[in-house]
Amino acid sequence: MCWRSVRYLEGMDARARIDQLREELRAHNHRYYVLAEPSISDKEFDVLLKELADLEAAHPEFDDQSSPTRRVGGDLTDKFEKVAHRSPMLSLSNSYNAEEVAQWAERVQAGLPDEAVEFALELKYDGVAIALWYEGGALVRALTRGDGATGEDVRTNVATIRSLPLKLNDGAPDPLEIRGEIFFPWPGFEALNESRREAGEPEFANPRNTAAGTLKLQDSSVVATRPLDCMIYNVDAETMRALGVTSHSEAVRKAAEWGFKTPQGRALDVVKSVDEIMAAVAHWERARHDLDFAIDGLVVKVNRYDQQRRLGMTAKSPRWAIAYKFETEQATTKLKSVEFQVGRTGAVTPVAYLEEVLLCGTKVKRASLHNADQIAKLGLREGDMVVVEKGGEIIPKIVGVDASSASAADLFSPSIDFPSTCPECDTGLVRKEGEAQHYCPNNATCPAQVRGRINHFISRKAMNVDGLGKETVTQLVEAGLIRDVADLYSLRAEELLPLERMAQKSVDNLLAGLQKSKSVPFERVLFGLGIRHVGETVAKHLARSLVRLEAFKTATVEELMALEEIGPIVAESVVDQFLDETFLAMLDRLVAAGLQTEAVIQEPVGNALEGEVVVVSGVFETMSRDEAKAAVTNHGGRLVGSISSKTTLVLAGENMGPSKLQKAEKLGIPLVDEKTFLARLGLSE
Ligand SMILES: [Zn+2]
Repeated sequence: MCWRSVRYLEGMDARARIDQLREELRAHNHRYYVLAEPSISDKEFDVLLKELADLEAAHPEFDDQSSPTRRVGGDLTDKFEKVAHRSPMLSLSNSYNAEEVAQWAERVQAGLPDEAVEFALELKYDGVAIALWYEGGALVRALTRGDGATGEDVRTNVATIRSLPLKLNDGAPDPLEIRGEIFFPWPGFEALNESRREAGEPEFANPRNTAAGTLKLQDSSVVATRPLDCMIYNVDAETMRALGVTSHSEAVRKAAEWGFKTPQGRALDVVKSVDEIMAAVAHWERARHDLDFAIDGLVVKVNRYDQQRRLGMTAKSPRWAIAYKFETEQATTKLKSVEFQVGRTGAVTPVAYLEEVLLCGTKVKRASLHNADQIAKLGLREGDMVVVEKGGEIIPKIVGVDASSASAADLFSPSIDFPSTCPECDTGLVRKEGEAQHYCPNNATCPAQVRGRINHFISRKAMNVDGLGKETVTQLVEAGLIRDVADLYSLRAEELLPLERMAQKSVDNLLAGLQKSKSVPFERVLFGLGIRHVGETVAKHLARSLVRLEAFKTATVEELMALEEIGPIVAESVVDQFLDETFLAMLDRLVAAGLQTEAVIQEPVGNALEGEVVVVSGVFETMSRDEAKAAVTNHGGRLVGSISSKTTLVLAGENMGPSKLQKAEKLGIPLVDEKTFLARLGLSE
């Protein structure tokens, strides 16, 4: 138990330490996320952050919504407030080639006769525009573009973006409105899709839509798990002029001084001619593939504020700026075949195999076709010359058939039809109402689903079985040796040895790997079971909250939803799964095989709370909220997130919300204060 963090503070000025920690963490955050020059390790950062969180929990009177602890989210928003923009958020007019850029530059020059004009060039970040309002140096609002006149305030979600200052450096104007783009860099986007794949959930198509969707999530702690980034590119000209700043490029440099992440180096070139603009376009057309975020063009702005003002606006967009949009890259190649793949949840995905072609600098051999409607719409035939496109997506897609091509498939080549039965087990496919996706409903014995489930179960983040790979799984399924994951544990050497490529050594390795997997923690066993919508993180939460596998069999949707981090979709999916008799029978065999079926709770201390269903609320004097929660589970209590008739005890700290208080009183649930709680646990002095 560690109540120590609070204890050693007695006699020390908590306020001073909180201020010091906030300042230090802010500086580290800026060095890490904006300058990419960290000066302490992640672990050291976490230690400081934890200290601050504990202090803030103990001293709610020093609450500050700009505190670095707010980055982790946790605020829930039912409905985002609609707020009018201070000045309209206009979009730029677009251009697609050198001629259009030249015509625009001529119009600019005509509006500024005999004046030298400089152009500031910037990358066009492929994300979501955002207007940020700061007051007293603190971020108070973050408005989406909305219809340009009114946006939605998504501050709680935006505050989780680590590269965005919640508190500005000294010298920043007050108040300040500043605009930029929120985007989802590729590495984080790919990692997110990987975890969705593992959880059997559909992948996101592109980073831009995902960034937009993420900003509208109601639970900011989910937003905090998605590494969004924010680049500032527009400072209110009036504010800047008041500071004596005369140009856009200078303003962007100023914004960097206040703590913002801004375009640097070649991403903020200032040039004087259309030729130079087009040279930059040519450069970025190639170089964009090396960036770790998506851009869809360049933005060209007249650099000087006085010239911008004289050029003014049209009704729709400023005359002093234009967007140059890259062409979406397309290539034409031959469609060799389409394969219909069945995933572990039964979803059928068409995958197109292509003659290799170069697209966006990468060799492409496969493309996605999404679903049956799209195949029908394109009227695809094998041998067709197809147009593949790579926009913001990772996997290119087929967008059309090049009928004019001489080598187009003749009319006798087979047309590609979406199958009506499963390509692996011949069961009739079903389409759920309102969904574009087809499913094979034969979950129990469809070989593709059986293989998919076993491959998921043995994968690195689940059971991590050494000595067993996909090919062997296919072999074992085909040989009829395994039908589900539990069968793995009854495999015997004498059954394996006669199989092809199965020498004594590989058999030994495989059996040893399975033996070893029996000590894999329960949360990973749960993840490995491949329950729909139960990814790695959800499995962890469920395992720690329900503790024992047995508890899952009787849990209701309401009980699960009362747990932290668990919503209705996950709750229903879990309950459905544990009502499935085939699944339950298989679980019994896994239990018999000796797999871990109970979460190992750190520091098991006592059973004073055995049988209690506990809600922890408010702040405490001698412990942080996390410590209080740990104390509940460590003493045999079960933790739930919200008060219901099943709750038997509420641990009530200071500042407990009035609605919770009312609910507890209405249901007659006893409230226990900190002192009584600690006494009951035998922890008071
Ligand atoms: Zn099937």
